[in-house]
Amino acid sequence: MEFETKAIHVGQDPEPAYGAVSVPIYQTSTYAQEAVGKHRGYDYARTGNPTRTALQQALAALEDGAGALCFASGMAAEANLFYLLKPGDHVVLGDDVYGGTYRLVSRVLTDWGLSFDTVDLADLDALRKAIRDETRVVWCETPTNPLLKVIDIAAVSEIAHQAGAWSVVDNTFASPYLQRPLSLGADVVVHSTTKYLGGHSDVVGGAVVANDDDLLERLAFVQNAAGAVPGPFDCFLTLRGLKTLAVRMEAHCRNAGRVVEFLAEHPKVRRLYYPGLPTHPGHQIAARQMRGFGGMISFETETPAQAEEVCRRTRLFFLAESLGGVESLIEHPGRMTHMSVAGSPLEVPPTLVRLSVGIEHPDDLVEDLRQALD
Ligand code: PLP
Repeated sequence: MEFETKAIHVGQDPEPAYGAVSVPIYQTSTYAQEAVGKHRGYDYARTGNPTRTALQQALAALEDGAGALCFASGMAAEANLFYLLKPGDHVVLGDDVYGGTYRLVSRVLTDWGLSFDTVDLADLDALRKAIRDETRVVWCETPTNPLLKVIDIAAVSEIAHQAGAWSVVDNTFASPYLQRPLSLGADVVVHSTTKYLGGHSDVVGGAVVANDDDLLERLAFVQNAAGAVPGPFDCFLTLRGLKTLAVRMEAHCRNAGRVVEFLAEHPKVRRLYYPGLPTHPGHQIAARQMRGFGGMISFETETPAQAEEVCRRTRLFFLAESLGGVESLIEHPGRMTHMSVAGSPLEVPPTLVRLSVGIEHPDDLVEDLRQALD
């Protein structure tokens, strides 16, 4: 079955009681049992919920995984995955990972005995050097947030495997429509489903997808034991978003291409970050491992004040955190999404502006940026 078909059909058969073609929101905390221990697959809604099951099945299919587990947010998905590690374990993080991932590892998990190093994962020798006997995870994001660095998933996964570590890929920016890390050799994919998968800026969620049955079984245990599960309505919204992922991603990529063409010629744009640019250092890898270059663009202006001014002056690009919705967003990472990494090796330039290009008409988006930059 092709991607577009899986997005609409996997886990989403018509509901058996009345034939509803849309998976119902099973808004219940518990399930009646016929006799003690005799139930129809569900006993308590932290442990399982049919709306969540449908979403998990669809997500697993889209990522070419054996199974998926959903969580209340992207960060909850990450935290629950880290619960599988033990004190003394070591993690290698890409040096440009999402600030929240860095904050979780550096400021929460180190108190639980985990150690970590950040490494430029585009430099495979640096990765080899950073790996220790205790390394259990190599955590990579590609393209990265917000500098859109591209990492070679197959090469990083091979090095991780030689060391007996898991290769984990945060696939939030690309979405499974553009890139499928498990097929490229990664062991685990994590998502903030809040972004492209939900796609409408109306729900927060996260997911972990994997192929290894043992890993999935241990994570399902943690999902129930720790309880950071998404509600059924959240699952419904995310599932509804998934159905149009393919058409939305095509439009995001197309529009981003138009916006990049405009920005590349603008005198106030000092530096442009987009994997689709032939001059981007990761362009060749992106062309190989992605189906399209995505809807995220970053650029630098001459001064931090100019960057803030552009963010204040756009009208269609809303000034807001988050990304991946149908509406275009603009933000200033240094003072918004990436404030938590200020003063760390992950600090971002104060002249940086990040765009999440939506699916409006590209002429209107270009016009909005033109008036904001003039
Ligand atoms: N990973 C990436 C790449 C993100 O951009 C984000 C959020 O912005 C997260 C993970 C965390 O997801 P959430 O905000 O759903 O907890």
